[in-house]
Amino acid sequence: MIKSFLFFLTCLIVLTFTAPGPSGASESGSQTISAKTAHWLLMDGNKRYMSERATHKRQDRRRRIEIKDGQHPFAVIVCCSDSRVPPEIIFDQGLGDLFVIRLAGNIVDDAALGSIEYAVEHLGTNYVMILGHENCGAVKATVEGGKVPGHIGHVVDAIKPAVDSVRGKTADLPEVGMRAHVTGTVERLKTTDPILKEKVTNGQMMIVGGRYDLDDGRVNIWNEGRWDW
Ligand SMILES: [Zn+2]
Repeated sequence: MIKSFLFFLTCLIVLTFTAPGPSGASESGSQTISAKTAHWLLMDGNKRYMSERATHKRQDRRRRIEIKDGQHPFAVIVCCSDSRVPPEIIFDQGLGDLFVIRLAGNIVDDAALGSIEYAVEHLGTNYVMILGHENCGAVKATVEGGKVPGHIGHVVDAIKPAVDSVRGKTADLPEVGMRAHVTGTVERLKTTDPILKEKVTNGQMMIVGGRYDLDDGRVNIWNEGRWDW
């Protein structure tokens, strides 16, 4: 109890000194947001969104002008292109807060990986979330298998190893396969040289998994080998 109060107090102090937005300033002279504070900011924003108390802060002209010369997003969100999962809305964040990478099935190919590394190395972001979601069409297509048209196969191929790793072990393959895809991606990124592995190993950054619920809007977190159900 005391521990969580102290953590809350720390977050409050950080927020005060970076007002008006959590990410505070631009690339030049900005104050870095720690991974733990970034996590708290996202979870707090998700609670506001879920309970229909979203503030929609930092989405106005003032904020637009404030960050025009540089960005310092406090979190990288890698999520599905699905129109029902927009990060700035479900975490109640504003302009310049999140560095978002969206591909169907929240896959992380080389271009996505390069984008994550750019945010971590050049923008000073210490927090990465791989966000899957309930009822993901890309995962469903992978579960169903068979031939897919055009370049959709590129997406399916990226998800297939995770789905295959739990195939035959569950009655709900789309859901369990999606979670395996998220957790597998998190573990892969944690050991990806040279930028991410080094920063995770020295405790400078966090890479976590998330699962967005389409019904109630909640984001559950997978971290240190378990889900926070
Ligand atoms: Zn999806």
